[in-house]
Amino acid sequence: MNTADVIATYDKYVMETYKRVPLCIERAKGAMVWDIDGKEYLDFFPGWAVSGIGHCHPKVVAAIKKQAARLLHVSNNYYSRLQGRLAGRIIDSSFPGKVFFANSGAEANEAAIKLARRYGHGKGRFEVITCLKSFHGRTLGMITATGQEKVKTGFEPLPQGFVHVPFNDIEAMERAVTDKTIAVMIEPVQCEGGINIASREYLKGLRALCDAKDLVLIFDEVQTGMGRSGRIFAFQNYGIRPDVITLAKSLGGGLPIGACVARKKFEAVLTPGTHASTFGGSPIVAAASLAVFDAIETGRLLGNARKMGAYLRKKLEALKRKHHFVKEVRNLALIIGVELSIKGEVIYRECMKEGLLINCTQETVLRIMPPITVTKKEADTAVAILDKVFGKVSR
Ligand SMILES: *Cc1c(COP(=O)(O)O)cnc(C)c1O
Repeated sequence: MNTADVIATYDKYVMETYKRVPLCIERAKGAMVWDIDGKEYLDFFPGWAVSGIGHCHPKVVAAIKKQAARLLHVSNNYYSRLQGRLAGRIIDSSFPGKVFFANSGAEANEAAIKLARRYGHGKGRFEVITCLKSFHGRTLGMITATGQEKVKTGFEPLPQGFVHVPFNDIEAMERAVTDKTIAVMIEPVQCEGGINIASREYLKGLRALCDAKDLVLIFDEVQTGMGRSGRIFAFQNYGIRPDVITLAKSLGGGLPIGACVARKKFEAVLTPGTHASTFGGSPIVAAASLAVFDAIETGRLLGNARKMGAYLRKKLEALKRKHHFVKEVRNLALIIGVELSIKGEVIYRECMKEGLLINCTQETVLRIMPPITVTKKEADTAVAILDKVFGKVSR
């Protein structure tokens, strides 16, 4: 089988909901992937930020292998050791409270919104304010929460109760609060929205606003969580605590998981029968996720994320001085955006030909999110390829 044969099976049997590039990945390790023809790539956007500690991390693989032979799934009317342990690990790394387990980012966010709705129930408060250019997932609820028209078009009528305001604008948020508002949901860094980083004053302002108006402050950390920001969760860079965080993507080390984490004040809002997930927090996924926490701690990967974030920032700033169409470099550790004054699609396609995988979002922003295990050598290779491709494109 070659790439064309695989693509033919998709053309015949897989719904065409994605714009895919013609790359069939067969094997991966760390920051490297190999396609079906044996060609090697450096992956600086591994698994859409899922493989945050690199592909097939040895600790994760070992944990999955061991657990697979013992117990894969337990229904949530019973108990299993690993779900409890993982919840404890998440709470120890965030704030006192409790965790609900789901299987994806959208589901984690749904749980957070249901929690907020439940909290406001009986007081006539149900509205949730989110930001323009946000991204919260693809369920009907989350396309409504997402502040971008492109995800909503054609699916109306949408559920009620979401309002959008510009990001990093505390006054717009204050103006949007009514006696129906129950929650504010934001990403501390809008990733899909173009790597827009919340300012310290903004998040402090949101905390104060939510305290004053008894609103649930929800941070969608589905993409920013698990070390990529240089802290285990991005909010920890800001000196404030949200009431709820939602996690997914790299939390499972490559296996599907979602989590909604609520502070003590909100930990008992969802009661028996009000929410559920058949697969949520299964032993096999919990084992993988515990291995991710272990790998981050023993590998000192938070420090590496900060150090390599600064290193890549410096290198990319140098490319900006060299190539006139590079407008701005933005980053929070290894959450990196390179804004161009030209369309980015040609860049990321050329990078792929040269053996580097990155992403482009909002048409003009290169999204660069190497695994947090990234080395100087890998960073240098990636920057050299970008330099070469930038040079080619500007001619
Ligand atoms: C990817 C993403 C989601 C959706 O996660 P799924 O697992 O695809 O449902 C939600 N919020 C953010 C910030 C994301 O990056």
